[in-house]
Amino acid sequence: MLTSIRERLEAMNKAIQVGAEEGRILQLLIALHGAKKIVEIGTLAGYSTIWMARALPDDGHIYTINRDASHFAMAQSFFAQSECAGKITQLEGDAHDILPKLSPNAPYDLIFIDADKISYPDYLDWAEQNIRKGGLIIADNSLLGGIAAMDAPPPKFAPTTWQNIRNFNNRLADRSKYNAIIIPTIQGLSVAIKVF
Ligand code: SAH
Ligand code: MG
Repeated sequence: MLTSIRERLEAMNKAIQVGAEEGRILQLLIALHGAKKIVEIGTLAGYSTIWMARALPDDGHIYTINRDASHFAMAQSFFAQSECAGKITQLEGDAHDILPKLSPNAPYDLIFIDADKISYPDYLDWAEQNIRKGGLIIADNSLLGGIAAMDAPPPKFAPTTWQNIRNFNNRLADRSKYNAIIIPTIQGLSVAIKVF
C-alpha cells in the first residue's frame, strides 16, 4: 500500500510526502507516547496517514485534513483499500475552516502539521488550545530544506513563509511552553511536547 501510494505520487510528479524514515519516526513517537487521538493537517495521498494509523492501537483514530479535492479523492481510495480504513477520518476543506469543527472532540494527543507552511503559526495556535498537556506537536518541513536557518529569505522565496516558519520555530523553542527539538532531516522535523 505505501509503495503504491509513493509510486502514484512519483508518476504524478508530486512526491512531496514524508520519507519512509520519517514514517518510522512518526510510528515510534506514537508508540512511545501512547497517542490515540491524532489530527493531521495535510493529507496529500495519505502516505503519512497510513504510517501513523498503523502505529495506533485498535481504539486509536486519526483525523486528517485535505484541501485539494483531487488529493482528497485519491487518499480516500487508498484508505478504503488499506487495512486501517476504520481508524481514519478524512475531512475535506481548508484547515482554517475544518480545525474549529474538530475542537469539540478535543483534547487530542498528537497533531501532525504538514500543510501550507505560511499557516504553521495558525496551526500552532489551534494545537496549543486543543492538545492535552503533555501532548505532542510534530511539524514537517520546519527547516524549509535549510532556508529557515538563513538570516534572510533567498530571492524568489516567499518572505512571509520564511518569517512565519521562523516564528513557529521560535515559539516551540520557548522552554516554558515546550520541550522540543528539530530533528535535522533534510526538510526538518519538529517534535515538541506541550508542557503547559
Ligand atoms: N502529509 C503528507 C504530505 C502533505 S503535502 C504525507 O507526508 O504523505 C500537503 C497537503 O496539504 C496537500 O495535500 C495539500 O492539499 C494540503 N493543504 C495545503 N494547504 C492546506 C490547507 N490550508 N488546508 C488543508 N490542507 C492543505
Ligand atoms: Mg512535508
